[in-house]
Amino acid sequence: MIEEQQKTEKSNNCAGCNKQLTKLKRYYRDGKYYCAKRCWKEASKAGKEGK
Ligand SMILES: [Zn+2]
Repeated sequence: MIEEQQKTEKSNNCAGCNKQLTKLKRYYRDGKYYCAKRCWKEASKAGKEGK
């Protein structure tokens, strides 16, 4: 089941800039992972702008 673990880790990309995340460096917010709090702010800001 090692392959499944790798698959899960690979899906941990920043929802803002799509940069690959590590266990140490990630920011969880609204069901998604971001590389930084700042990246989440940018992403949420861009999403609300359309409304
Ligand atoms: Zn990011």
